[in-house]
Amino acid sequence: MGYADRFVMSLGASTLQDDAQHHAAEPLAAAALADLTGAGFGALLTRVKYADGSISKTFESGTQNLAQLLRIWTNRVTEKGRERKWVKEGTEWDVRAALTLYRRVAERSLAYWLDGKCGTCHGTGTATRMICQPCRGTGRGEIGGGGFEREKALDMVSELESLLQAHNGRAAAMLRSCL
Ligand SMILES: [Zn+2]
Repeated sequence: MGYADRFVMSLGASTLQDDAQHHAAEPLAAAALADLTGAGFGALLTRVKYADGSISKTFESGTQNLAQLLRIWTNRVTEKGRERKWVKEGTEWDVRAALTLYRRVAERSLAYWLDGKCGTCHGTGTATRMICQPCRGTGRGEIGGGGFEREKALDMVSELESLLQAHNGRAAAMLRSCL
């Protein structure tokens, strides 16, 4: 069983008592440790991506984890956008436009990363037994948005993916060292 599966199982465990058979608390402890040493919100990424059910529904109805994740992620994207000077923030109008851009890039990238399936074939790549036309059989949807915003959102999708991989790698290593 991979680290992400164990983490999800431990979230579903009715008790976090660490009994010898279930080790339910260990993935949580490992995740918390990995967060202290790493990206800061990897545990939350794992929790939202693997444990909160259907994400496109979740995104509309909103859950606490997701709301929290979006808030943290928007701040993170804002920092990155400023570091990398995506746009000029000279006048007050520029600042407001820039903040809107960061927010939209954050929302778009998070939604796509969580559930980027093609809306026509729902990720299967086939529709009515033929290769799905809109996604050409890839099963991936379009991230949407235009030009600059789309490009930055795709960059941020890769960032999310590498944050999650790094987090899971650290957590798995810690889990191994406590067994
Ligand atoms: Zn499709």
